[in-house]
Amino acid sequence: MSEALRMFIGGEWRTTASGKTFPSIDPFTGKSWAEVPAAGAEDVDSAVSAAREAFDDGPWPRMPGVQRSAVMRRLARLIEENAEDLALAEVRDNGKLMREMAGQVAGLPGFYDYFAGAADKFAGEIVSQSKPNYFVYQMLEPVGVVGAITAWNSPLMLMSYKLAPALAAGCTFVLKPSEHTSVSALRFAEVAAEAGLPDGVFNVVTGDGPSVGEPLVSHPGVDKVAFTGSTATGIRVAENAAGHLAKVSLELGGKSPNIVFADADPEAAANGVVAGIFAACGQTCVAGSRLLVQREVHDEIVDRVVARAKRIKMGDPMEAETEMGPLAFRAQMEKVMRYVAIGGEEGAELATGGRRPERFGDGLFVEPTVFVGVNNSMRIAREEIFGPVLSVIPFDDEEDALAIANDSPHGLAAGVWTRDVQRAHRMVHRLQAGTVWVNSYRVLNYDVPFGGHKMSGYGRENGLEGLAGYLHTKSVWIELSGETRDPFKLG
Ligand code: NDP
Repeated sequence: MSEALRMFIGGEWRTTASGKTFPSIDPFTGKSWAEVPAAGAEDVDSAVSAAREAFDDGPWPRMPGVQRSAVMRRLARLIEENAEDLALAEVRDNGKLMREMAGQVAGLPGFYDYFAGAADKFAGEIVSQSKPNYFVYQMLEPVGVVGAITAWNSPLMLMSYKLAPALAAGCTFVLKPSEHTSVSALRFAEVAAEAGLPDGVFNVVTGDGPSVGEPLVSHPGVDKVAFTGSTATGIRVAENAAGHLAKVSLELGGKSPNIVFADADPEAAANGVVAGIFAACGQTCVAGSRLLVQREVHDEIVDRVVARAKRIKMGDPMEAETEMGPLAFRAQMEKVMRYVAIGGEEGAELATGGRRPERFGDGLFVEPTVFVGVNNSMRIAREEIFGPVLSVIPFDDEEDALAIANDSPHGLAAGVWTRDVQRAHRMVHRLQAGTVWVNSYRVLNYDVPFGGHKMSGYGRENGLEGLAGYLHTKSVWIELSGETRDPFKLG
């Protein structure tokens, strides 16, 4: 029997206005394990009204920062206490490995502790006094009600990128998780309520993009939209938010190059390539889905990556030794298989993978797949696949590597593998990406700003820059002389 869940709005557990629900499917078993409310515009309106009331009249934005910090630290401790339950909900929702999701959930308290540390340390600043008759200062104030929309691949982490700084700033929050991964957000709401967040500060409305995401983004009561998802949806979100000029941050897709020079440590580089594309079945925004490899070590690196790909243990995401589980849902698996077919039609050569392993029957598994003989104009090199499919592109020298790496609509992340420190710095300076890893890949933390260049989005999450996204500035002029001035002259 799957569990029937309710949404969290204004501190209450509610069903939808329509009473409709939809099943959450466990991608490993293929069975429904929870029944989730299918909200509509009316429910979004209730959630935004609750958040608006909590912002306009409630204690949260007015509370001394040190008290907000205390609640956030309590939330961090409660996440630790409930970590196993939260991680289990994520695995059952999206089929990612328990070891990956347990690791992500173990990292969540850090976001709330870090931003709790900032909640009582921002105030604004005195502005230099070039106008002698005035004392001028800037206040920092919370932007207001945040409408947050997240993708299914790392649900609670992507939410925490937004929620932790928003809470520290004094904002209130309405979350629409992906329809594929709603359960962990609802479990999290229980924890947030226990931590002592006042009613209406954190709200969750569940349902799909058109029914819930669009009305949330377009709602005039939402002051800021914080979005993580695909580039196509991000553009639509920005257009809809523009209708009432809400502030927008967009964390979007990528086609990140992992660049291996001939002087790199081959074992470390091959391992980094595997981490970049096969961890989480490639379902990560920073997936290193283009391997750019210097021609003289092309075969050696490809052989190492292919050999490791063939040894990847696929299976039950709950088992500790599993390295790749199923893809998150059927349409995603079908999309990945379509790109495998496109790669073949474009003339790329399969070095390994490309099939659905027979032993899993109709399960949502796709083999770790490596295409060689790819050129950067092929669709498998330009479009985000969001699956375990690597496109290998050879290059001649540094200029060639940079030209290929930067010839992409996206600019989320890049990896550089070299033992030459000068080359490493030259590459870092010229790569068009929001994050560059040198001799490493797929490392993120709450104190390091994260976001994209080009079609990978705008705005930064994490670090103090992440907090700035939830604050706005008010400039205050205090007249000091007490004199009356010429009313027809700009002061
Ligand atoms: P989508 O863009 O399909 O969906 C993202 C979210 O937007 C979901 O909650 C979705 O709802 C919602 N949504 C869909 N349509 C609309 C709409 N018209 N208005 C408002 N919201 C809408 O992305 P995926 O969920 O498939 O996630 C994968 C994508 O996310 C990849 O492109 C990946 O690169 C990107 N991503 C980026 C990250 C980053 O930090 N840069 C991190 C992780 C992922 P629903 O699905 O319920 O219909």
